[in-house]
Amino acid sequence: MCEHASSHIPPEFNQLGLSDDVANSHVAWDPGALPVARRLADDLDAVLIFGTMSRLLYDCNRPPEAPSAIPARSEVFDIPGNTDLTEVERAARVAQIYTPFSLALTEEISRHRETLRLMVTIHSFTPVFHDVEREVEIGVLHGEDARFAQAMMQAKPRNAHFCIRLNEPYAAADGVAHTLDQHGLANNLLNVMIEVRNDLIATHADQRAMAQFLTGWVKQALDQFNHGEDAA
Ligand SMILES: [Zn+2]
Repeated sequence: MCEHASSHIPPEFNQLGLSDDVANSHVAWDPGALPVARRLADDLDAVLIFGTMSRLLYDCNRPPEAPSAIPARSEVFDIPGNTDLTEVERAARVAQIYTPFSLALTEEISRHRETLRLMVTIHSFTPVFHDVEREVEIGVLHGEDARFAQAMMQAKPRNAHFCIRLNEPYAAADGVAHTLDQHGLANNLLNVMIEVRNDLIATHADQRAMAQFLTGWVKQALDQFNHGEDAA
């Protein structure tokens, strides 16, 4: 799963009134997340669902009723094309972007119902946020079901040289657990959100290495989880 995979804004939206710099920045998408998610999905033999438009048009990890689903401001930037939208305009964004995304996810989950066990969603975050440098390099986040995030923290590779933290740089209270709760928990899937600092996945080689690291780690956590269940 990769909700913020794309920075694409169709021409009819006039780039939401943003400069090229902002429209291509981490404000508009999660740089590096999709290539990591693709490799992870390949290595885990998983189905990958990803967003195809900028989260500034509609953030697919937010429910339609959340103001942040179509943000009028992101970090330090106002989003002119999202200001003073009418109910009709908001509903059109939901229908064009969120509904198909959510339906695709629902359909894939029901299609693979028999074998599906785990949902992993891959995101990236900026190293500097509101002028503050972030120390955390990989965040493991959970929604209402903390089981798999905790299994991952327990299975953290001993030789990992990354700064890995639970529920950083965001947590469910920031509204980031929508997909996890809506599609993971509701379908009784183990679920976890992995946030990678985007400077660590800026090149193909780094993306490959990160995917490999995450694959081994997720497998280890699944193993531990299965053994824990056997013991219970
Ligand atoms: Zn994201």
